[in-house]
Amino acid sequence: MSETTRAPKPIPLAVKPRPTAVGRPGSGKTACIRTFGCQMNVHDSDRIRRMILDAGYAEVTAYEDADIVILNTCYVRENAVDRVRGHLGELNRLRREGRVKKVALTGCIGAAEESETLRRQFGIDLVLGTHNTYELAEFVGLPTMEEIYTPDLPGTEGDHAAFVTIMTGCNYQCSYCIVPTVRGRMVCRSKESVLEEVERLVSTGTKYVTLLGQTVDAWRHDGERFCDLLEAVADRAPRVSFTTSHPSNMEDRTLGVIGEKDTIVKRLHLPVQSGSDRMLKVMHRGYKAERYRRKIEVFREAAPGGTLSTDVIVGHPGETEEDHEATLRLVEDCAFDSAYVFKFSPRTGTEAALLGEAIPIPPGVTQRRFMEVLHDVEGSAFARNRRKIGGTEDVYVRHGANDEGRAIGETWSGHAVHLKTDAAPGEYVRVGIESAGPHVLYAGNPPEEKLG
Ligand code: SAM
Ligand code: SF4
Repeated sequence: MSETTRAPKPIPLAVKPRPTAVGRPGSGKTACIRTFGCQMNVHDSDRIRRMILDAGYAEVTAYEDADIVILNTCYVRENAVDRVRGHLGELNRLRREGRVKKVALTGCIGAAEESETLRRQFGIDLVLGTHNTYELAEFVGLPTMEEIYTPDLPGTEGDHAAFVTIMTGCNYQCSYCIVPTVRGRMVCRSKESVLEEVERLVSTGTKYVTLLGQTVDAWRHDGERFCDLLEAVADRAPRVSFTTSHPSNMEDRTLGVIGEKDTIVKRLHLPVQSGSDRMLKVMHRGYKAERYRRKIEVFREAAPGGTLSTDVIVGHPGETEEDHEATLRLVEDCAFDSAYVFKFSPRTGTEAALLGEAIPIPPGVTQRRFMEVLHDVEGSAFARNRRKIGGTEDVYVRHGANDEGRAIGETWSGHAVHLKTDAAPGEYVRVGIESAGPHVLYAGNPPEEKLG
């Protein structure tokens, strides 16, 4: 069985929408969008949000207040599908009680064959994949849009932080991964189009731009490479980050730019998946552990105080104790600041799902390996975080204060910080770091200095 458990979790699996946004006044129609999965899905939900607001719906956060509900879903691991099933069951009950009128399912599950079974089982009104989200327009009462699928669609405007998709799809064929099936092959957006969007966002108040793509560092266009684009974006936006990178595409030049440019957050998320060359080959990752280690050395040199995170899969079919030991060694050598550790989840249609039937790993073994990797990552993360205690940091406020007055921010090194402040999202606050956990730093109580 699959399970997704990980150290710091920037995007919860089901992301609740922002508090009520008002649609066309007086229409009285309400819609609720629920997002499951990665930042790509969060970004797709922003586009859906714009569509429903244009159609005159007010956005609400609770299913029972909504006329229509849109579940924008993830298919990467089975437990994501299980969660969506739970939500669909709940929505069926609300529909029977006459509270919710229509339900749409979009995103990666919508692009998978399993969506047909879900549609029949739960009587879903509309199922859309990742390539035809525009068909939602008709569903919400907008004129039908003819839209050719490109990633060249506008991002979120006017918010303090925005995602900018620079490429979609993926040209790799990792043994375990369903992404190329549900998101298609790589399509890169032009540099001019990305820069235009960044400039527009910055001029309307965006202070933090995150460049998005499944293999963001594979971006290339008209002879230019990711590094060129990153540099140009960093010259235009006050704060920049990017995700997710693939080790085979990560150039030393890019790592150098992260260190050099003041506007780039010194954080690298570079999924390794395994520390064993044998498993990396089985997974078709296209690099060896030694090459990965070398990349990390270059990053640590370019951005000495920066944060490094990774993804690891344990229990992939055929993984031996020796392979697992190699992963533990790599985890120790790289001293990650955080990691997403996943138990292998068989996805129908992938090579590893077939392998899993032939050479499965007993669940107890996968569980033990999972705990061992997690334990080692948390050990190094905690040790690295403790080094920050006593220091002063300029923290970018990502989420304003909750009911207890606690806000969540981020340092220029990419560390998450809990702080007490009334500063608004998008503002900077200078704080002293008083304590640390394995996943987060804690700022001392005021005095703090608002930097605006
Ligand atoms: N494109 C990124 C890369 O190449 O590393 C990752 C994209 S994937 C959506 C995010 C992570 O989910 C992967 O890095 C991998 O660790 C995990 N993952 C993908 N498929 C999985 C599966 N079948 N079982 C368990 N984990 C999986
Ligand atoms: Fe999936 Fe591999 Fe593509 Fe990442 S690089 S999205 S893991 S196929």
